[in-house]
Amino acid sequence: FDPTTRTISYLQPRSYLPVKSLIQGEKKRILVTGGAGFVGSHLVDRLMLIGHEVIVLDNFFTGRKNNLSHWMGHPNFELIRHDVVDPFLIEVDQIYHLACPASPPHYQYNPIKTVKTSVMGTINMLGLAKRVKARFLLTSTSEVYGDPEEHPQAETYWGHVNPIGPRACYDEGKRVAETLTYAYMHQDSVDVRVARIFNTFGPRMNENDGRVVSNFIMQALKGEELTIYGDGLQTRSFQYVHDLVDGLILLMNKDYMEPVNLGNPDEYTIREFAELIRNEVNSSCKIKTLPAPTDDPKKRRPDISRAEQILGWKPRWPVKQGIGETVKYFQRQMEAGLIG
Ligand code: NAD
Ligand code: UDP
Repeated sequence: FDPTTRTISYLQPRSYLPVKSLIQGEKKRILVTGGAGFVGSHLVDRLMLIGHEVIVLDNFFTGRKNNLSHWMGHPNFELIRHDVVDPFLIEVDQIYHLACPASPPHYQYNPIKTVKTSVMGTINMLGLAKRVKARFLLTSTSEVYGDPEEHPQAETYWGHVNPIGPRACYDEGKRVAETLTYAYMHQDSVDVRVARIFNTFGPRMNENDGRVVSNFIMQALKGEELTIYGDGLQTRSFQYVHDLVDGLILLMNKDYMEPVNLGNPDEYTIREFAELIRNEVNSSCKIKTLPAPTDDPKKRRPDISRAEQILGWKPRWPVKQGIGETVKYFQRQMEAGLIG
């Protein structure tokens, strides 16, 4: 825009990251629900770079347009504000169904809406897949295993979930989403994939979404005390987001319909993890203990034999390296005044 002449110049095209040119037949139309969120935006980046056409549906509950601003206006990209609880019709070849808040404070903020998103949203997207004969991938979760009595957790484990606790809206919502997925497969021959995702972190996590990785990094960057909930002996296994995106795309394009765990088996107690963040970010930070949340799973580690065997996939990013990248991201956001 030239303010002197008050005219808009149409001559300078916007520059984008270089996307591949796929030949007809290879180029797919792909719908990503929840594509403005943390995982979804990384998946969109990869699908765009590969050269596909990508349509994102998002209601921006936890997602942000900023996560996708670098694709706005690209001829292969479309962003639509839509709540998956309402039906949606579009011609696509593949559907990655991610729409659902994932951090405990977010999914517990409005538990009824979380259940509706998982149940009605998944019915709508499966109905769409059936109607347009698209392949459908559900991003399920390690939470379907609940507070597990089997360790590590393999896909054959049925889980140990409290159906009426504060986590139930998410855990049971995803369990029903899996049930629906296999019902549509058996009853209506929908071509389905189910990824059970374990704790994932990386740039574009919401800085205040309450998950342990973003909490600890932000606390350490601000010189605040790191908050450990409970005795800190509970464990989690953390995977870097680029590994997850590799796994999701491999699974979508493989002829395999059973659930597949995607996670990094590198397991830490939360206390060990706090020490790791302190060493990487700010060794002068103190640690404080807060009460343990209700039904907090005591241990969690994926058995990834199936992913290794079927997809030839295993995580490539060491946790420390991923943490380094994530810290740099939050630092840059703070310097730019985007977060405080
Ligand atoms: P996120 O909260 O960053 O992203 C979720 C996205 O879905 C957001 O953009 C949000 O606005 C959108 N959304 C929520 N409800 C919606 C609705 N009703 N209609 C349309 N859009 C809606 O979470 P994330 O970490 O990116 O998780 C993405 C998916 O992966 C979720 O399905 C989650 O259950 C699954 N998952 C994530 C993890 C993890 O550690 N990040 C672990 C297991 C499973
Ligand atoms: N946690 C913690 N301090 C925090 C946030 C979380 O000790 O500031 C603990 C939480 O109680 C849980 C673990 O870290 O045991 C992982 O929590 P998160 O919310 O990241 O994921 P989820 O519980 O869904 O695995």
